[in-house]
Amino acid sequence: MSYQTVNHPVIHQRIRGIVSTIYDETHEMFRSSFEAFVSSELAPHGDEWERAGIMDRDMFVEAGKHGFLGMSVDEEFGGGGIDDFRFNAVLSEVLAGAGLGGAGLGFTLHNDITTPYFVEYCTDEQRQRWLPGIASGELITAIAMTEPGTGSDLQSIATHATLDGDEYILNGSKTFITNGINSDLIIVVARTNPDGGRNSMSLLVVERGMDGFERGQNIEKVGQHSQDTAELFFTDVRVPAANLLGEDGRAFDYLTFNLAQERLSIGIYGLAAAEAALEWTVDYVKERTAFGSPIASFQNTKFELADVATEIAVTRPFMEQCITELNAGELSPAKAAQAKLWGSELQGRVTDRCLQLFGGYGYTTEYPISRAWTDARIARIYGGTSEIMKTIIAKDVLA
Ligand SMILES: Cc1cc2nc3c(=O)[nH]c(=O)nc-3n(C[C@H](O)[C@H](O)[C@H](O)COP(=O)(O)OP(=O)(O)OC[C@H]3O[C@@H](n4cnc5c(N)ncnc54)[C@H](O)[C@@H]3O)c2cc1C
Repeated sequence: MSYQTVNHPVIHQRIRGIVSTIYDETHEMFRSSFEAFVSSELAPHGDEWERAGIMDRDMFVEAGKHGFLGMSVDEEFGGGGIDDFRFNAVLSEVLAGAGLGGAGLGFTLHNDITTPYFVEYCTDEQRQRWLPGIASGELITAIAMTEPGTGSDLQSIATHATLDGDEYILNGSKTFITNGINSDLIIVVARTNPDGGRNSMSLLVVERGMDGFERGQNIEKVGQHSQDTAELFFTDVRVPAANLLGEDGRAFDYLTFNLAQERLSIGIYGLAAAEAALEWTVDYVKERTAFGSPIASFQNTKFELADVATEIAVTRPFMEQCITELNAGELSPAKAAQAKLWGSELQGRVTDRCLQLFGGYGYTTEYPISRAWTDARIARIYGGTSEIMKTIIAKDVLA
């Protein structure tokens, strides 16, 4: 598949009644320049990275040079100095439109999910040390919560660290870590108080090359092949106390707060992926014929596309409301869980229904819909499964 052919500018004009109300001229200029970057720098390498199972880490530096990383990092550290999640949403929309879900996840994880921890919880000294590299793309980030023995149940993590003078001695392992191979700074959730409970976990930043820190193989997956996902091992890693992020014992509070943005990010990507799938499918069904007529002429095709277009149209205002609330610091964990639940389930439904309209070609890698479909499956699992999102929402409903 050639990725150059799938970057579809028409998606962003919000035709078919899908009207976006939150973007202004600045966001549209940012979108145009990111579209140009994706076309020239990312799309030509898409297939190669899918085969290699990893994206070229130099691309982070290229993205950093063009201002597509660390938008929320202060200008004095080389960032954009703008805390406006609309820019993050624009990046997701462009990546989804280009069919670059796998490779793009490295960027969205770095920008949407890990950078906020550094921006919010770093000390002045840590800011000087890490933020310039995070904004320039020279320091690629990851966050390691999940362990081989526990994912949904974060309170059961076994990775632990003991303070010894001015160092923590870290032991344990993590798995399924996005940017697991490429990352230079990994936020590791570790138990620093053996008593258990809410105040027993801390965030420690493990750096590439620390003694006792090893990475496993790049994990083979059903989709998102160009995204490196790895297991990480920590054996008596001496992490300087100066690498503690925020306060000792506060990890659970930080995660609860920051997971709202992570979940909204996944929800928005789900919507963007559904919008892209709809556009590709509309083009395809108009061209492809069967029984002497375009596929688009069959009532089933029309009804399928009508359903999909309606779901997307109804979802967009909700996501945009969530972005506005996030920007105002008002997005609740339950509403973020709704965005993640709905956006990821929508992505799964829409890419599946659209793939069906491509017939056999939909199952080949010739068209981007196949990759969008396989890439979509994980969205209902990572960042908290759909079932966990429902438990969060239900708790709020019943409160
Ligand atoms: C490609 C990929 C990238 C990832 N990236 C990262 C990353 O960067 N960092 C990171 O820390 N993790 C990452 N993860 C891990 C991901 O977040 C976890 O896989 C996810 O949270 C689920 O945890 P688990 O796999 O242990 O499943 P389990 O917790 O074992 O769940 C198994 C099943 O049980 C269900 N279940 C569990 N508890 C309940 C309950 N209380 N009620 C109802 N049903 C329940 C789940 O919904 C699921 O269906 C990634 C995973 C993948 C595959």
